[in-house]
Amino acid sequence: MTAPLAYRVTDVHVHIQPWRDMKPPVQEAMRRGKEAHWDFLLAMMDDPAVLLEIMDRSGIWRVGLVNYVSPDVMGFTDSTNDFAARYAQAEPERLLPYGGVHPRFTRDPAGDVDRLVDLGIRLLKIHPPHMMFPANAYTDGLEPLAAIYRRCEERGLPVMIHTGTSIFPGARSKYGNPLEIDDVAIDFPDLRIVMAHGGRPFWMDEAFFILRRHPNVLLDVSGIPPRRLLEYFPRLGEIASKVLWGTDWPSPGVKDLRQNVEQFLTLPLADAERRAVLETNSLTLFPAG
Ligand SMILES: [Zn+2]
Repeated sequence: MTAPLAYRVTDVHVHIQPWRDMKPPVQEAMRRGKEAHWDFLLAMMDDPAVLLEIMDRSGIWRVGLVNYVSPDVMGFTDSTNDFAARYAQAEPERLLPYGGVHPRFTRDPAGDVDRLVDLGIRLLKIHPPHMMFPANAYTDGLEPLAAIYRRCEERGLPVMIHTGTSIFPGARSKYGNPLEIDDVAIDFPDLRIVMAHGGRPFWMDEAFFILRRHPNVLLDVSGIPPRRLLEYFPRLGEIASKVLWGTDWPSPGVKDLRQNVEQFLTLPLADAERRAVLETNSLTLFPAG
């Protein structure tokens, strides 16, 4: 048993998804490097008890279950939303289900957002490289995307937007530029936006600019090796009140929920900053109970 952490940690970015639905080439990319644990990971996607046991062992209080719709690139259909909602029912206080609406496939964007809220979904994820449009594509004619953002803003549903590259076959990394969040933050000023991955590996300047410019944009540090976080964001302390803890586990390269936290704790940050990142900022976004 590992020692308890000094913080009630919420990891806002964990990939608990219906992996069995992934297209074969995507599944192949996901499998690489974790062939030995593949069956275990699939079993975890089927059974929340497996994940909860890992969370207990790692001393992690809550996790956000990243789900989004990407039928053409990844293989995830609307059923991913029911999957997330059902999975989280095993322990609703600790499992935060995320879901999605795909603006290129939906026929009723606002109604679909309402259905997510009814399901108990806590955040809507937009993944531009896996959905094949930039995050501000409504400025260029993708009207359902504006309808989704607008409805999320009205319903108080936070939106997470992937930034940075993606290694999966078919993903379009050019849509990962965080600068495109500028439009979204301006046009939907009451929408709470979570910028995932901070534009890693090469758009950190853009990401930092957006984070400082817009009060409604938060950073989720998942996917950035924690030990190198201050190399990517040397002025992280300045924005500590907007930083959310996340790992991207069990995506390629991310081995362990707990190890990432421990590496983060070795960084020269003040205790108040650590607590903000690991515990309190996410409590504001996702109040407990
Ligand atoms: Zn991710």
